[in-house]
Formats: sequence, C-alpha cells, structure tokens
Amino acid sequence: MIAVLKQNATKDQRDHLISWLKDQGLDVHISEGKEHTVLGLVGDTGKIDVELLQSLSIVESVKIISEPFKKVNRKFHPDNSVVEVPGSGVYFGDGSCVVIAGPAVIEGEEQLLSLALKLKEAGAMVLHGDAFKPRTSPYAFQGLGKDGIDILGRVKKEVGLPVMSEIVNTNHIALYEDVDIIQVSSRSMQNYELLKELGTLRKPILLKRGAANTLKELLMSAEYIMDGGNENIILCERGIRTWDFSDGAARNTLDISSVPALHEMSHLPVIVDPSHATGVASMVEPMALAAAACGADGLMIEVHEDPMHALCDGAQALTPDRFAAAAEKIRRVRSALF
Ligand code: PEP
Ligand code: MN
Repeated sequence: MIAVLKQNATKDQRDHLISWLKDQGLDVHISEGKEHTVLGLVGDTGKIDVELLQSLSIVESVKIISEPFKKVNRKFHPDNSVVEVPGSGVYFGDGSCVVIAGPAVIEGEEQLLSLALKLKEAGAMVLHGDAFKPRTSPYAFQGLGKDGIDILGRVKKEVGLPVMSEIVNTNHIALYEDVDIIQVSSRSMQNYELLKELGTLRKPILLKRGAANTLKELLMSAEYIMDGGNENIILCERGIRTWDFSDGAARNTLDISSVPALHEMSHLPVIVDPSHATGVASMVEPMALAAAACGADGLMIEVHEDPMHALCDGAQALTPDRFAAAAEKIRRVRSALF
C-alpha cells in the first residue's frame, strides 16, 4: 500500500503519521519525490483502515499495490533511483550510460593490467573481472579465487577505475571489501541466502536476470536485497534462454524490451549485457547500440586481448580495438538521443 502525502504536509504531521503507521507493525519506506512524498507501507496492511488513512488532512491518496514486489516498485518511489559507486564519480540511473568492461575471468595480473589500461583509454568507466566463476563443467577453469580478488584490488589502484566482481558464496563477502560493485550472476539470482547477506551491505549490487527467469522474479530477488536495507541495486538484462539452436543464432535471446518494462515496473537502474546475451562477438556491438538507444543505464561488455586463447567466454569477447570503436558509437548514440 502507498500513501501519497499532500505538498503542504508539515514535518510534524508527517512524523506523527509515520510513527502511527509503525505502531501498527508496518515497515514504512519514505520516498521524497520532486513533487510528493510517498510512504510505502510493507507488512500486514490489512490492519489499516484505508478510509481513515485516506481521510487524514495530509493524505492526498492511498493506493493498494497489487504486485508482490514493493520496495523496488516504481509506485513506492516514483523518481529514478540513482546508484552511486562511492568515490568514483560513477552513477547509474542519472541519465548516463555507464560502460563496464573487462575479461570474463581474471587470468593473471599482467593480463588484467594491460587490458584495463586499454579499456580506460577507450572510455570504460568500471573494470569487471571475475575471480570466482560458476562454470557448467567442473573441469573448466574456475577462476583464481582469492588471488584473483587481490589482483583486481592492485589493478584498481594502478589504473584508477572502480571494479566489479562476481560473488558466488556468502562466506566470501569479507574478500570483497575493495570491490566497488558486487555482481550476482544469472546462476545465483535466486540464491536467497546470498541476496539476504548482500542486503546487509551498502555497496552497489549488480543483479543479473537468470536465464529462465521472468522480470517479476528478477524484481522479487532485488526485493530481498532491498528488504535487508541495501537500496543500491542495479538490474541487468543478459538474455534469456529460448528455442533457436540454429547455427549462427545467438546463444540467448536478448530481451531488449525488459529495459523499458523494468523502468516502468521499478525505480532501479537497468543495464544490458550484450556479451552473454548473444555469446557471439560480432553481435555485441549492434546489441550494445540497441540497448544504448532504448535507454539502458549502462552496458557490460566482455573484452580480451586474445579472444582465441581466453580461458572463458572467448567467442563473445571483443578485442580492445573493437571495444574502443563500439564505445565511441555508444557515446554517439547517447548524445544523439538523450
Ligand atoms: C558474467 O557476467 O561474467 C557472467 C557469468 O554472466 P551471466 O551470469 O550473465 O552468465
Ligand atoms: Mn562471462
């Protein structure tokens, strides 16, 4: 349920109403918008006398929220949420298109440093490298683990870009102190124990859509994080599994409509990953441009200096030169349209 307050409501009246609602056992989420203050009520709202609430002099309207996701719901927070990556000058949801780039997996310090310098030069704003990789095969390279996170920390200092890395396990959270954005990958989207732990942090969390998950399920996963108190969530569309296994078809189907759909359903920023969505390097730039044009708040793109010999996801990796050309086109699309 939400209660929209009148513009002339005083602070005292507002505080009085909020404490009355809390006394009824409700969790009150306050959103100060440009025009109105919206109180989002979570809990057993059946106890509330809607007519009484509606009749209060400071209440403009009361609406029942039928969707199961509440705190991430656009109705709870009509303005866009802007997620800041502290200390970096990078913001998701402020109208910019944040380009995140990096290798699928950290292979070594020299590899990451050399690539990161090129990515920064080409305009990447966040460096992505994974140290813990969930792989389909137990025999595939699983990442460098803690050593990989340490490498990422050193490269971050050297290059001066904020960094993002995937987490797979709640026991690893302490290792991510120097990681600026923690990524929850598609395979972990419904690891609710992990989401609850990430809800206790205040670091930005990038939450990727599972390959077989609906937008509603993605938003319910985001709700777990936000319910824990962490409002710094970035949603990521990375393609869903559909049924075209023809030669030449993309590995997944990029659901580009999820960008406007999620923007309508939620106040959270939405980025697109054209690399995992297509699995094919030649399709990455066209899909990145489509995402930039449809209003995505960012992109994440995989880049490798030698894709043929990459230890993971080489087929979808752009070379640094190709990435630089794509990044330039992304900037041109954004400045033409937004
Ligand atoms: C990744 O971003 O490196 C990754 C594993 O992605 P996804 O979860 O989308 O497959
Ligand atoms: Mn990958």
